[in-house]
Amino acid sequence: MAEEAGWQPNPELRRDPITGEWVVLAAGRSRRPHAPGPAAAAQPEAECPFCPGREELTPPEICACREGEGCNCPGWTVRVIPNKYPILVSSMPRAGQERAVSPGRRPAEGTSEVIIDTPVHNQPPWVVGALQVRQMLQMYQDRIMAIKEEGRASYVHIMRNHKAAAASSLKHPHSQLFGLPFIPPAIDTELDNFVFANPGRAGCVLCDIVAEEEKNRRRLIMQTESFTVFCPFASRLPYETWIVPRHHDMRFEKCGHIDELAEVMTELLGRFTGRLGDPPFNYWIHTYPLHGESRPYHWHLEILPRLTLLGGLELGAGVWVNTTDPELAAAELRGES
Ligand SMILES: [Zn+2]
Ligand SMILES: [Zn+2]
Ligand SMILES: [Zn+2]
Repeated sequence: MAEEAGWQPNPELRRDPITGEWVVLAAGRSRRPHAPGPAAAAQPEAECPFCPGREELTPPEICACREGEGCNCPGWTVRVIPNKYPILVSSMPRAGQERAVSPGRRPAEGTSEVIIDTPVHNQPPWVVGALQVRQMLQMYQDRIMAIKEEGRASYVHIMRNHKAAAASSLKHPHSQLFGLPFIPPAIDTELDNFVFANPGRAGCVLCDIVAEEEKNRRRLIMQTESFTVFCPFASRLPYETWIVPRHHDMRFEKCGHIDELAEVMTELLGRFTGRLGDPPFNYWIHTYPLHGESRPYHWHLEILPRLTLLGGLELGAGVWVNTTDPELAAAELRGES
């Protein structure tokens, strides 16, 4: 407790004028539980702050999906709490602590939330079942809408780190949400590329890609009424997989097919477990920024298994080395090899 009292989150955002990338300076965050290392994610169930019955160990919940009455008590199926070790904070620094604000420097104002995806400590939601995944997805949508209502953020990034090798610091299955005060460079770049690919702004490059992947089927993993799942043509890492709505749709939070998406994720991530030996991975949702709708875009979910380590070529040049053909990866995930 004494150590926690010493944790004064006062992070700052700095943007590099050359790379255009934003950096959250969050000194002191290494005090978060299980900073990366061999012991990461080794927390026993008996001490887990995310398990039902230990609600008092987390900050008070923002919202929860539960059948009965109550708050900060057991009975929930999905629970959202503020990140205890936030990299973004919801209020400006206190008086007397103001820092210089310039185009490349500002207080790290935003939202850091943890979505506890399931009450079950040892099983990710896709093992618990599609209904649990559906509740998690519903919460993702609800939180994006709520943060949009608040009006402060420009973009909501929702992501999951699965296992310590993919940077998960607590074993209990959870996702993370960041309400960012800017549009992140990855989304900015994609928004630009949607325009470059269709300069007249007629048509959508991701609709075209979906049609092509469904036609040639070499990288196709599965296809349902509303979703296509494939390893992208230029997969960055082995078994990179995208889940894309088949019908043009800009925003994840407006998606009316999360029942089906839950089934697709449950099946796909089950195959990751069964055929790839439950690899560490990161997934994230790429969706349209919170405000405006003037640019072409098509939301999607990207899954990046972390079977290889990133090196200086990836980090320094943005050039990825993938040792597995996406065509072979897709065949394996279809169950053909
Ligand atoms: Zn737990
Ligand atoms: Zn489209
Ligand atoms: Zn994307």
